[in-house]
Amino acid sequence: AKEAGKGKYMVFDPSFLQAFNERVKLEKYLRQGLQNGEFLLHYQPQLSLKTGRITGFESLIRWNSPELGFVSPLTFIKVAEDSRLIVSIGEWVILQSCMFAKRLQDDGHGTYKIAVNISVIQLLQDNFVNKVMEALEVTGLEPQYLELEITESTIVESFDRLIQSLSFLRSKGIQIALDDFGTGYSSLGYLKQMPITTLKIDKTFIEQVPKDDDNRSLARAIVLIGRKMGLQVVAEGVETEQQMQHVKRAKCDVIQGYYISKPLPEEEAIRLLHSNPVY
Ligand code: C2E
Ligand code: CA
Ligand code: CA
Ligand code: CA
Repeated sequence: AKEAGKGKYMVFDPSFLQAFNERVKLEKYLRQGLQNGEFLLHYQPQLSLKTGRITGFESLIRWNSPELGFVSPLTFIKVAEDSRLIVSIGEWVILQSCMFAKRLQDDGHGTYKIAVNISVIQLLQDNFVNKVMEALEVTGLEPQYLELEITESTIVESFDRLIQSLSFLRSKGIQIALDDFGTGYSSLGYLKQMPITTLKIDKTFIEQVPKDDDNRSLARAIVLIGRKMGLQVVAEGVETEQQMQHVKRAKCDVIQGYYISKPLPEEEAIRLLHSNPVY
C-alpha cells in the first residue's frame, strides 16, 4: 500500500477488479448479442408544432440480454464505443432505421423522417460515408428522410475531419442534427461552419420549465439562435402540456418527448400513426 501512489497495486483493489471484470463480461455479452440478434430498435415520434402531426421518428436502440436482462443504452453504448463494437452495432442501426422508414412508405403508412444517433467512433471510420450511402441504396430510402444525430461534443473533438464527411452527406441531401445542444462547448462560430440542418435542444433546458426562469429564457434563446441560422429546432424531453406550450410560444418547430409518446416498438408506432392523434 506504501507504493499505491505509483498505481502498482491498483489492480488488486477488489472494487477495481470487479468493475474491470464486469466490463469484460459486458463486452463479451455485447459481442454475442450482436451475433444472436438481441438488439432491437424503438421509435419515438417527433411532432410538428405547426401542423400538429407526426413528421418523423428517432430510433433508439434496445438490448434485452438473456444473461443481464434489459440494459440501458446509457450503460452499454459507452462499452461498445471503448471496444469499437459500436461500429458494427451502428451499421446495423443505420440499416434497420432506413428499412423502417422505407417500410412505412411501402406499406402506405406515410412518409416520415428517421433520425439515427451516430457515435463519434462511427463517424471517424474511413468508410462511414460509404456505409450510410450503401444503406440508402439497398433500402431505396430517399436521402432527405434520413437524419444523422451528432452530439455537440463529438464535433468539437474532431472538427476538421468530421466536417468533410458531414458536408459530403449533407450535399447528398441527408439531414444532420446537432443533438443535446446547449450541453457542450461549441461556440456560435462553430455552429455557423457546420453543415447542419437541425438543432435539438437538450432536455435539461426543457425539464426546468416552468420552475426555472433562467432555463425558460435559455430554451427560448436557443430556439432563437437556431431560427436565425435557418435551422429546424427540435425540443426534446417535452413531458407536459405546459412545456409544450412554452416551446410553442418560443416558435420551436418540432417536439419530442413523453408528452407525445415514449419510444415505441414498430407495431405500436404504426398504430399511433393510424390513431390520428391531434395535439
Ligand atoms: P439521446 O439521443 O439524447 O436520446 C433521448 C433519450 O431521452 C432517450 O433515452 C429517450 O428514451 C429519452 N426520452 C425521450 N423522451 C423523454 C422525456 O420526455 N423525458 C425524459 N426524461 N427522457 C426522454 P434512451 O433511449 O435511454 O437513450 C439514451 C441515450 O443512448 C441516447 O440519448 C443516445 O445518446 C444513446 N443511444 C440510444 N440509441 C442509440 C444508438 O442507436 N446509437 C448510439 N450511438 N447511441 C444511442
Ligand atoms: Ca439523439
Ligand atoms: Ca438528445
Ligand atoms: Ca443525450
